[in-house]
Amino acid sequence: MMYQSTRDHRNHASASRAVLDGIAADGGLYILDDLAALDFDWRAVLEEDTMGMSEKILAALLPDFDDMGALVQRSYAGKFETDALTPVVHVGDRHVLELFRGPTSAFKDVALSVLPQLITAAREKEGVTDEIVILTATSGDTGKAALEGFHDVPGTRIIVFYPHGGVSAVQQAQMTTQVGGNVCVCAVRGNFDDAQTGVKNIFAACAGQDLGGVQLSSANSINIGRLVPQIVYYFKAYAELVDAQRIKAGQPVHFVVPTGNFGDILAGYFAKLLGLPVGKLVCASNANNVLTDFIHTGVYDRRRPFHKTTSPSMDILVSSNLERLLYLLSGCDNAYVAGLMEQLKTEGRYEITAEMLSKLHAEFECGCCSDAEAAAVIGKVWRENGYLLDPHTAVAWAVADAFMAKRTDDAPVVVLSTASPYKFPDAVLRALGEEPCDDEFAVMEQLRALTGVPVPKNLASLREAPVLHRDVIDKEDMLEYVLRKVGEKQW
Ligand SMILES: *Cc1c(COP(=O)(O)O)cnc(C)c1O
Repeated sequence: MMYQSTRDHRNHASASRAVLDGIAADGGLYILDDLAALDFDWRAVLEEDTMGMSEKILAALLPDFDDMGALVQRSYAGKFETDALTPVVHVGDRHVLELFRGPTSAFKDVALSVLPQLITAAREKEGVTDEIVILTATSGDTGKAALEGFHDVPGTRIIVFYPHGGVSAVQQAQMTTQVGGNVCVCAVRGNFDDAQTGVKNIFAACAGQDLGGVQLSSANSINIGRLVPQIVYYFKAYAELVDAQRIKAGQPVHFVVPTGNFGDILAGYFAKLLGLPVGKLVCASNANNVLTDFIHTGVYDRRRPFHKTTSPSMDILVSSNLERLLYLLSGCDNAYVAGLMEQLKTEGRYEITAEMLSKLHAEFECGCCSDAEAAAVIGKVWRENGYLLDPHTAVAWAVADAFMAKRTDDAPVVVLSTASPYKFPDAVLRALGEEPCDDEFAVMEQLRALTGVPVPKNLASLREAPVLHRDVIDKEDMLEYVLRKVGEKQW
């Protein structure tokens, strides 16, 4: 079973190769052409606990890895707040899938706990002796979760770029205090798209180059090893609804997903292709609503202002993983996808065919929400349900409101919750009608005093941690920075 580049059918790779490379040599993303054709018993998977589900799903999609059970244990055991990893909480008329109970209180922990283990195993499998250097651009959460996953993993180093002034004080502290002999954190003057484009350009510039005992790879959600572990929590949520007798196995469930790079929601589509009875996948955006417009009209147009919002992990104009969906919707037409991506690069826009648009509408719905609406939702859900939402989850909640008002069935609605409210204490406190003080750590304490919701341990201890990383560079200098760092023996 081979992974295939979305852009050129001649470029394919084993699962372990795809995990090591991150991105295909032609700039495309690795994907399996036909998930529905896999030998996969989704009903049997629902009977497993979370670890068992992870093992079965990872083994099915990444078949050349040995002993996936042990790999999953190494990834998760003891690192999350609960054995369920991603618990479901019933709040009002819907269900909240809490994806933020991991070591950095972000949903990205779910995948980034596994990826380092996959990369280490793939390195052995492929007989790679080179050191793997992970390059990651982050809008805030990926960076810390990747650092946490990779620090001191033998055979790997990691460089994280984040937009200077574009992440919250808590997120910044999470990254700049990261310990580990193999980690490097650097701010880039620019926004997230600049940092992400910079990383993509470095991969392109270094492709086929001899970097002297080093191979570059990615921890961004373009890596298939990031995407596959995210399929699991859709099964987990579904199984919990069956156990709670809210549905019978086989009945549909809708999922509303706060979306940025389109990885989280795409994993839901993969779950559906594997047989899970997923109803609609509802793509929720903030004021950066390029995906809302795309899903409505079939026109993707990035030529628009970039908004800094209270949900910064969704402040994205180019959603990388959408390329994988385009590939599947086009019937695996590489040349067509390559053409769209070229158009996006040169003209800043593309339009899909009417046939693809109708396929898209069969599976996906969408909506967007302003910061003010998200704040109102945080206040309302706290007052009415005593449940504290972070601003990303609040965006999804607001979009779920609109979705539920116009739908014609009564299937359960699951809202994916992607961050702890304590990662964005300023915005959350304001939404509750209180004025935050200047120091974001003191604001965490203000929020705790007001709500009584406990602060996750990893965030509570941040304040005392020493800052270890202070580099700030221009976006034009990212390549040079990486080459220099890679050349240094000791960080
Ligand atoms: C990354 C992230 C998202 C967006 O997920 P994608 O997979 O990039 O669509 C949403 N919320 C939070 C808190 C995130 O960190």
